[in-house]
Amino acid sequence: MRKDKILGFATDAGSRTSHTAILARSLGIPAAVGLENITASVKTGDVVILDGIHGVVIIDPDEETFLDYLKKQRKYKYFEQELEKLKTLPATTLDGHIVQLEGNIELPEEATSTVEHGGTGIGLYRTEFLFLNRQSFPTEEEHYNAYRHVAERSAPHEVVVRTLDVGGDKIGSFSEFEKEANPALGLRAIRFCLQKSDVFRVQLRGILRAAVHGNIKMLIPMISGLTEIYETKKLLEEVKAELRSEGKAFHESVPLGVMIEIPSAALIADLLAKEVDFFSVGTNDLIQYTLAIDRQNEHVAYMYEPLDPAVLRLLKYVASAAEAANIPLAMCGEMAGDPLYAAILLGMGFQRLSMNVASIPWVKKVVRSVRMQDAVELVSLVMQQPTATAARKTAESFMEERFPDLVAEL
Ligand code: PEP
Ligand code: MG
Repeated sequence: MRKDKILGFATDAGSRTSHTAILARSLGIPAAVGLENITASVKTGDVVILDGIHGVVIIDPDEETFLDYLKKQRKYKYFEQELEKLKTLPATTLDGHIVQLEGNIELPEEATSTVEHGGTGIGLYRTEFLFLNRQSFPTEEEHYNAYRHVAERSAPHEVVVRTLDVGGDKIGSFSEFEKEANPALGLRAIRFCLQKSDVFRVQLRGILRAAVHGNIKMLIPMISGLTEIYETKKLLEEVKAELRSEGKAFHESVPLGVMIEIPSAALIADLLAKEVDFFSVGTNDLIQYTLAIDRQNEHVAYMYEPLDPAVLRLLKYVASAAEAANIPLAMCGEMAGDPLYAAILLGMGFQRLSMNVASIPWVKKVVRSVRMQDAVELVSLVMQQPTATAARKTAESFMEERFPDLVAEL
């Protein structure tokens, strides 16, 4: 999409966490998704208001609505400018706890976008976008150049390179991808990589070599159990031996992390913590798989609730396991970029929050205005609620009390 040609877009299908929405956020294009029948309702020449914050499209607005939205737009822009002032300030709570606010990127060109928004480092580089819109798999040099480019521009901050997470709603045009009845439960991410290990090896070689040029960490998506970790480590050792024998420069000990995004992984977080260097929680999938809601499906999007008691319990369990094993705990799902949840995640013990870069100033505003003690109390209060609705009310009251101006913009 040419950013300069597109003011915004609306779709019939999808939800807040489908990859179309994630990309729109990444590119800074306002979007409203999952509207079910918007393509049938709008015709060329109609005047529309596209409210990307609430996911609403108003067709042929009356004058009052139009003026109201103009006012809203101006206020929003003003608030964004105010947040700009936080850009060079650290994300530190009132009582001195430091949180790393990082960016999620999809393309190498976005390498500096995190710093431009006042963040530090890249907590999630979704490398599958290297694989899409083409007929053949990327070469080792393409991998190497892309990761090196991002690592060099981000140093000394970290770049968490996630290995290929293809499948689900991200399907390449290669013959290797078969049409599946349930793609979200199918040959996706690490499952694909371990079955097509020749493709995976090329990427691993590229990452290990690029890591010489910056602070690269490697993140494995869709881990469901320990066997996948053992197999990945075995492959990594084989690839290192190859590079060694070829005399190629590479990093011997790139930190290895796993995404916690399948309930089975969350439930064995204590075991996984013994095998890896860090966790990064992917709530987009963790919520999808815990609550059995297809993240692509607009008909069940209303059930997609980060504050569902089952989700909160899993998050808490993972946080405790990371703390007990003394390994860093990050979150890179969309939940990490919503200011409503920032205090809760702090209180649970997340030290790194990685998000679409435009959200960094909003989350920073919350982090800089709370005390850890209050965040911990909020977690305990939210976790006592029996339903997502009650938990949301609790979180909203906390925010409204402390951040009335910020809540008014959400
Ligand atoms: C997630 O699942 O939360 C995540 C960050 O990965 P993706 O959205 O690419 O599946
Ligand atoms: Mg995921």
